Amino acid sequence: MNQHQSKSWFDRAQNVIPGGVNSPVRAFNAVEGTPPFIVSAKGAYMIDEDGNQYIDLIGSWGPMIVGHAHPTVVEAIHQTAVTGTSFGAPTKAEVLFAEELCAAHPVLDMVRLCSSGTESTMHAIRLARGYTNRDVIVKIDGCYHGAHDAVLVEAGSGVATFAKPGSEGIPTAVAELTRTAPFNDLNVVEQHLSTSTVAAVILEAVPGNMGCIVPTEEYLEGLSKLCKKYGTLLIVDEVMTGFRLSKGGACERLRIDADLVTLGKIVGGGLPLAAFGGRREVMECLSPLGAVYQAGTLSGNPLAVAAGRATLGLLSDVVYQELEGKAECIEAGLEDLVAKYPVSFARVGSMFTLFFRDQAPTNFDEVKECDFDMFGTFHYKMLERNVYFPPSQYEAVFLSNALSDVEVQRVISGIIDVVEELFAQ
Ligand SMILES: *Cc1c(COP(=O)(O)O)cnc(C)c1O
Repeated sequence: MNQHQSKSWFDRAQNVIPGGVNSPVRAFNAVEGTPPFIVSAKGAYMIDEDGNQYIDLIGSWGPMIVGHAHPTVVEAIHQTAVTGTSFGAPTKAEVLFAEELCAAHPVLDMVRLCSSGTESTMHAIRLARGYTNRDVIVKIDGCYHGAHDAVLVEAGSGVATFAKPGSEGIPTAVAELTRTAPFNDLNVVEQHLSTSTVAAVILEAVPGNMGCIVPTEEYLEGLSKLCKKYGTLLIVDEVMTGFRLSKGGACERLRIDADLVTLGKIVGGGLPLAAFGGRREVMECLSPLGAVYQAGTLSGNPLAVAAGRATLGLLSDVVYQELEGKAECIEAGLEDLVAKYPVSFARVGSMFTLFFRDQAPTNFDEVKECDFDMFGTFHYKMLERNVYFPPSQYEAVFLSNALSDVEVQRVISGIIDVVEELFAQ
């Protein structure tokens, strides 16, 4: 794998962009090697500055579910661009899009558009605080909700302790309003709900940001019951799972009774767009109807709305069956490997992670027991075989429907070869 050009761009980048990247995971700090600089992508493939062509298992971290540069999506963006790219005033397309989102997702009575997943969870949390008139929120360890203060916290040492900020620059006073609890565990959540007045519990119902974790049925059902009991809102962050696990996301697939949901990634079809929404009574607290302020100059941007609508229009039941079929095929192809070596495969729908741990983790503490060095080498060796895995053990694979049997088979045989090689050493 020649990386001459990518390496030289990475050097230049580091002089003018902190760490050379505009989002930290892209720097490949968690794996061996340096990041390929991408020139273009089409269908299931990405091509880098050195002409290497990779089977893409990231799909821009989810949005490219129908494959890169899908002609229908490109055409929609093109047609919209020539009629003006931003007005700062309402458009018909936003209304149609909002109607489509509300029809697709069981939790959405009303929805508001914004530009990133980070914004969507920030606004949803403020809305929950405004609606309940409470300050404290509960966040689940290992779930990621974007890069704002309230959710960038990690677990404290004891069950009932305050969370510690997971980043410099977050005031302790802010972090103290966020309590944390382990995934798949109702006891700690209930302790929080019963000892403080909690505005909202926020979680990824199927986490993808600590690798893919399978939720137990009792957990999700229990969470929603507990929230009702204590007058706390349940916010399901579907930025990753929305339109990934089904049209109605994790909430439809796993029948979760939530108050608010956040959407991002796929809903923007590869352009910057996200959304949050939920119960009408809660959503009507938003400005200009209510007293909870929220706004955005580029919210509902015509190009992003066009790309999102075109992408969602391509997602049928058949597409979801095909996508899941590809993931099942990979799982089946790795069955012997998983039995033979201390690796495990966790999957929900078309989201999955190969963990370098004997048993698939069920919470964040267990994820931390993985062999991260081995994952780092695995990642590099897969890249050498032209398969681009997410560059961290803490991430899930995102399949696109542009992957054909040929690519699926190459992924399976690549994984088998590399894992055999790693454990032979
Ligand atoms: C990606 C992600 C976010 C953040 O979205 P950005 O668009 O990167 O700000 C929030 N929540 C979840 C579950 C995500 O996967």
